[in-house]
Amino acid sequence: MSGNRYLCSMAEVTTRQDIRVLSQADLTTILLEWGEKKFRAKQVYEWLWQKSARSFDEMTNLSKPLRQKLSEYFVINAIQEDKVQRSLDGTIKSRYRLHDGHLIESVLIPVPSDRRFTVCVSSQVGCSLTCKFCATGRMKRLRNLDAAEIYDQVVMVNQQSLDTFGHQLTNVVYMGMGEPLLAYKQVLRSVELLTSPDGLNMSPRRITISTAGIAKMIKKLADDKVRFNLALSLHAADDTKRNEIMPINEQNSLDVLMDALEEFYQTTRNRISYEYITFQDFNDSLEDAANLVRLCQRFPVRVNIIEYNPIDGADFRKSTEHRIDDFARYLRERDIMVTVRRSRGKDIDAACGQLANKD
Ligand code: SF4
Repeated sequence: MSGNRYLCSMAEVTTRQDIRVLSQADLTTILLEWGEKKFRAKQVYEWLWQKSARSFDEMTNLSKPLRQKLSEYFVINAIQEDKVQRSLDGTIKSRYRLHDGHLIESVLIPVPSDRRFTVCVSSQVGCSLTCKFCATGRMKRLRNLDAAEIYDQVVMVNQQSLDTFGHQLTNVVYMGMGEPLLAYKQVLRSVELLTSPDGLNMSPRRITISTAGIAKMIKKLADDKVRFNLALSLHAADDTKRNEIMPINEQNSLDVLMDALEEFYQTTRNRISYEYITFQDFNDSLEDAANLVRLCQRFPVRVNIIEYNPIDGADFRKSTEHRIDDFARYLRERDIMVTVRRSRGKDIDAACGQLANKD
């Protein structure tokens, strides 16, 4: 029994708790104490996760008194759609309101020609890291999301994908607002739920956690033998430039990060990729490309070059197509696997944090 044991005592419950913090084992213990049969807990759990019920009234195979009792003791803090922006290129950005009024965002990135439908989810409200090119980095970190709030984003965007493109999501990336490895416990629980047969039953190979680079947490992922992919938001291939745009690099230099990533690869054999936004005349020269090649020698890695989606007030410009092509060619000629991602949703607030930051 976990730390949720206190929930079993009716006398101690003063405010209603979100039922989705409970594991199935906790739920079973509570329902047994209420005199219910064990299978009822499984039914409730299925409603909460497989069927994503947003109220106890939806749980029609439970008796009315049980539904009533559940709603006396618990709530379901489902996220609520607040605003949706649709780009001409198919990208859909959604803003969600959390039960305490905070706003977060998720993005659906469809590539119908490849049958790839990816959701980019948030893991925190705001962010404590202050990457210079990022709109979220200008918001304070207000709190971590809980696993259910991350899970809900996937469920809601999956429905959006089905409604709009007739195709369910194929990939989940934790690349939205926040640093996932600073919301470690809830992020890992959300992956567990997404991949569980009791949840969405997704393959962990279709899930990528993206980090700005916190070496000790990358090592923890290795220790925990996770099965999902890892992306490092690299964006600069030498410490001087990286310190300039990503202050987290000051305590997590590239050497230290490479050690951690190598350990992650040796332990898990999971896929590692580098995300590399090119900024005109800052990190897009062939000298920068040569530095990047050096960071690709110790373990297999893919490089995703990303066209910058400018935000108001930032000192960066996006690289020209010509610079990006030269940069990518330089890497390919050295046998590095490279994908160039053109910026999506240019006609909407698609850069991370732009929509949630708006009135
Ligand atoms: S890029 Fe990611 S880690 Fe950096 S400030 Fe933005 S949300 Fe935070």
